[in-house]
Amino acid sequence: MRPFKFIKAEDVDSAVSDISTNEQAKFIAGGTNLLDLMKIDVMQPRNIIDITGLGLNKIEETGEGGLRLGALVTNADTAYHEEVHKKYPILSHAILAGASPQLRNKATDGGNLLQRTRCYYFYDTTTPCNKREPGSGCSAINGYNRMHAILGASEKCIAVHPSDMCVALAALGAVVQVEGPEAKRAIPFDNFHRLPGDEPEKDTNLLADEIITSIDLPPEGFAENFAYLKNRDRASYAFALVSVAVGLQMNNEKIEEARIALGGVAHKPWRDKKAEALLQNKAATMENFQKVADEILKEAKGYTYNKFKIELAKRSIVRALMQAAKID
Ligand code: SF4
Repeated sequence: MRPFKFIKAEDVDSAVSDISTNEQAKFIAGGTNLLDLMKIDVMQPRNIIDITGLGLNKIEETGEGGLRLGALVTNADTAYHEEVHKKYPILSHAILAGASPQLRNKATDGGNLLQRTRCYYFYDTTTPCNKREPGSGCSAINGYNRMHAILGASEKCIAVHPSDMCVALAALGAVVQVEGPEAKRAIPFDNFHRLPGDEPEKDTNLLADEIITSIDLPPEGFAENFAYLKNRDRASYAFALVSVAVGLQMNNEKIEEARIALGGVAHKPWRDKKAEALLQNKAATMENFQKVADEILKEAKGYTYNKFKIELAKRSIVRALMQAAKID
């Protein structure tokens, strides 16, 4: 690990000021991803700004009837919070499907959004990787790409976002509150993470001098009809090959609204709102679920070792919709 300067921020304003004025600076809270990346020389910040004392560790009701998750609330405290568990069970289930208890006790909600891909080549500094070193090439496209993207990839990068929590937040339609030197702004979850395009080094639309202060959950939590389904190579402490978060608004046998988000398939949690709309005012049947699964995957592209994910994703969508509609 390279030497770095350690700065303790006292409040949000000073944290924003510190990151704006210190070269190659990074915030640290739980440190569950950043420290690993620093130890293996994938990231080399010169300044580390400790934000653990900013007081962003509360879960509060919003005026609109939703919940505000402070950016520094731990993943474990979020998953086991009474209101989250009761009103947004899809989020609790997704968080508890990820990482390990030790990591969930340390990792924060804001940090979860900013974790880096687990592409093997990104972590191997002896190989080319456009995300780690722009312009160097992508080792995964013609390499071992079992865990990689089948949707929204580019010729520069086929990495996937590794989070479970973010898949549920995408389905719920959360909003990320951020603060920068000039202003505060609210970023709809769909616009927070990016597709790789020509700049795979950029994972999100958060600016370098902005800090996440909270994640706001809307009033509707899909507590009656939901599912979080995660397919992975082993039963615990493994990233998703394909995961699916589903929330349904049902009126007797009919679906009034469907939310479907996929993890492990793209550079960001994947939602296809046009495909979701195919289920509006439709009966909860296997046939209708298969149609929407086919639509979501219609432009999917597999690589040498991950083609199986296309069929796996279709079946996972159908299965998760059946669980959410309670018809299995
Ligand atoms: Fe790097 Fe992305 Fe290619 Fe992985 S898929 S090697 S992260 S450029």
